[in-house]
Amino acid sequence: MGFIELTVLNNTARQAAIGIDLGTTNSLGALWKDGRPIVLHPEGGNGYVPSAIYFGDDGSIVVGREARDRALIDPEHALFSIKRFMGRGLKDVAQDAKSVPCPLGENPNGVIEFEMRGKKYTPQELSALILLKVHDIACRTLGGHETTKVVITVPAYFDDAQRSATRDAARLAGLDVLRIVNEPTAASLAYGLDQKKQGTVAVFDLGGGTFDVSLLSIEEGVFRVLSTHGDTHLGGDDLDHLLVQAAMEDLSRTIPATTLRDRGFQQLLRLAAEKCKIELSTAPEAGMHVHLPEAALHWRRRFTREEFEQLAAPVIERAIDACRKALADAKLELTAIDEVVLVGGATRIPLVRRRVEEFFGRKPHTELNPDEVVALGAAVQAHVLTGGTRDILLMDVTPLSLGMETLGGAVAKVILRNSTIPCSATEGFTTYADNQTGIDFHVVQGERELARDCRTLGRFKLSGIPPLPAGMARVAVKFHIDANGLLTVSAKEEITGATARIEVTPMNGLTDGEVEGMLKESYVHARADFDASRLSNLKVEVGTMLRATEHGLREYKSALDKETVRDLDDSMASVRAALELSDVTALQKARDVFERATLPLAAVMMDNVAKRALTGKRLDEV
Ligand code: AMP
Repeated sequence: MGFIELTVLNNTARQAAIGIDLGTTNSLGALWKDGRPIVLHPEGGNGYVPSAIYFGDDGSIVVGREARDRALIDPEHALFSIKRFMGRGLKDVAQDAKSVPCPLGENPNGVIEFEMRGKKYTPQELSALILLKVHDIACRTLGGHETTKVVITVPAYFDDAQRSATRDAARLAGLDVLRIVNEPTAASLAYGLDQKKQGTVAVFDLGGGTFDVSLLSIEEGVFRVLSTHGDTHLGGDDLDHLLVQAAMEDLSRTIPATTLRDRGFQQLLRLAAEKCKIELSTAPEAGMHVHLPEAALHWRRRFTREEFEQLAAPVIERAIDACRKALADAKLELTAIDEVVLVGGATRIPLVRRRVEEFFGRKPHTELNPDEVVALGAAVQAHVLTGGTRDILLMDVTPLSLGMETLGGAVAKVILRNSTIPCSATEGFTTYADNQTGIDFHVVQGERELARDCRTLGRFKLSGIPPLPAGMARVAVKFHIDANGLLTVSAKEEITGATARIEVTPMNGLTDGEVEGMLKESYVHARADFDASRLSNLKVEVGTMLRATEHGLREYKSALDKETVRDLDDSMASVRAALELSDVTALQKARDVFERATLPLAAVMMDNVAKRALTGKRLDEV
């Protein structure tokens, strides 16, 4: 789920706010200074905080560069790529869990826990440590002008749970989140594309371990995510891995398999491969070296850019394929794309630039550092939110429909997929039994027609409904998605004013693949779903009709002629038989006959209600 609405503020009392790109591999802070966003480079460093955490045997925890360095010697006590676990449950992260060196568990709320040196840590807590480190660097760069206000970026495909987890991480770090911003939008902001009157931007983000492409439209300063596609396991690391494999083939002839498989040695190989890959971005040829004096190992091999490109091409084509899918999803032709923005360190690879340019048929923006562009955009956003002037309005859409389970298991969709957020919608519900004083609500997300095929976002109960005949209570259920994409569902009974609400902050989230899967599923199952939903709704409707008719017959049978009573009895018997069979067509037919048969009874009942209403009243009062 996405974001965002940005209000233009012009007040004078301004306080700095930091833009933070909380990345899978690296995190970075940026700030608005002297009319432009700048990355915070403390003490001459490059400002990046590797998103790594190391747990010392003395109970110390180090974050960033030092953690990454210590991981080389003691990889068993270092954690990387925490972002992949944010807002997820164990079942969502089976693949990523394999590269975690410590036991993984889940707390009773379904939040993942890493167990390191006898202590448990949630991804939120670990991300909080990274945020603290970035914040600390920023404040030092600011020369003591403390600010706790931050804007944090997340991928466009992050769902509610992942966004909530990011927000919680900031809260744990004592930071005040002004906005959660989508990374592609931040990148577009950094390039000032919000100043365009109209256009469509493709943001191609190839980082270390993840790839995504997002298509955004800009209209009069309003940004909108049209579609987003990608692969959460595609990036520069895959290219390192290809070089590592090539090296392993060579090395396996000279060193034992146990050394080859050693985590520390693997890490050494990976770093050597990365160095070689980076060099190949500027040089036509580069060497890969592995030097291990204790094993008397000194290995080197040269790779040409051409060799590397042959290895890398299939990986890069997967990214280009995702661009095709994003265009198809947004129903856009290639010619509709006016601007292409490159994000992520791996977009420095000449082959990546070439293929992106060939595919989109235009030169991508490369003027800004692709590692910094998201943080810079977050700083632009932070600037505007704290009173700076840049007239922009950003928006996003919900990737999946949101709704409520109705009696019988069908879903009443309240907010439809692709609605621009922030947005609200209200749907009326009622009781299904006489004297029912509470309703259980089941909030779901997805495109399928039955609740059991959608994803549960939360459940809550509205109590305090006055005892009334079935169907008489009036309960308004309101769904509201705020500018950060967080959903609140509230229910209000209109007679008593009884209310209940739930903030949907699910414990774990969907993968983008799952979102896609759920969308696909809904197409595949559309027909069956439609029938299932129709049947369930019919069953509920017929059930209510039967109860009301039985009730009516008890009171008014004597006022009906014999033939009417017989018709009613017959049609009720047919309806009950069709209910047993669970056959939509048969039930539909029986329901129609039954409805016609109830008309005389309904007329008698209405007459009576009218008579009662008139009792004791003068005609002129009517
Ligand atoms: P990010 O996740 O955006 O920080 O990107 C990190 C990825 O970009 C890593 O795989 C890096 O090896 C890769 N990278 C950084 N600089 C270069 C470069 N000059 N050429 C090729 N890859 C690079």
